[in-house]
Amino acid sequence: MGSVSLHNVNKSFKAVDVIHDVALEIEDGEFCVLIGPSGSGKSTLLRIIAGLEEVSSGTVSINGKDVTELAPKQRDIAMVFQTYALYPQMTVAENMGFALKLAGMPKAEIAEKVKQTARMLELEPLLDRLPKALSGGQRQRVSMGRAIVRDPSVFLFDEPLSNLDAKLRVQVRGEIADLHKRLGTTSIYVTHDQVEAMTLGQKIVVLWDGRVEQAGPPLTLYNDPVNTFVASFLGTPS
Ligand code: ADP
Ligand code: MG
Repeated sequence: MGSVSLHNVNKSFKAVDVIHDVALEIEDGEFCVLIGPSGSGKSTLLRIIAGLEEVSSGTVSINGKDVTELAPKQRDIAMVFQTYALYPQMTVAENMGFALKLAGMPKAEIAEKVKQTARMLELEPLLDRLPKALSGGQRQRVSMGRAIVRDPSVFLFDEPLSNLDAKLRVQVRGEIADLHKRLGTTSIYVTHDQVEAMTLGQKIVVLWDGRVEQAGPPLTLYNDPVNTFVASFLGTPS
């Protein structure tokens, strides 16, 4: 279970409005892509869903429950960042198990869970390494592993491929798609890359200047964009 709804979400930093009246309905199990140019409010919106940023007004619900006032830990979500955000002094296994340890899970159970997830991501041979001894692609997989072990209702991805080179980007993108096929976890994925959006998204939400310009299945947006901005972003001539 992992539906996500946003109602009339607004956000300003100081006096500057950056998110305007955003409404979103993401269904359980859906892979939803938020796409828009730099500064359009993608990360802010994702951080609002994660509870890392407060709304100025409006509500956020997960699984039909209003979580607007809840801390990130209480939201049943896990976030994968662009910068991986791994703890440099911890091994891969420790990085992956850290949240479970904080949650008080017994050691043996953590070890089992980490092993299972590492197998799924082909990280098993790397479990004793430190992050600095990993390639970029491996680090990003550890970062995903850290989210997966927590078994959340919703995965949030903020431009997870942007620090990888072109070849790895395609590979890790495929791994993210496989993961969604396998686990079926609701995913909200931020990117400014139209190929990523069209490849991964079951629903695409186009943001511009903190507003939702259009939301729908990739083909609908591609064939029937509401305006030239959406058309230019998703590649149809207008
Ligand atoms: P995107 O992820 O689409 O590039 P962001 O959500 O990071 O966009 O930013 C949207 C707007 O909000 C930008 O104009 C940015 O400068 C502003 N913004 C984001 N975070 C902050 C902050 N902590 N303080 C002030 N302004 C911010
Ligand atoms: Mg961003």
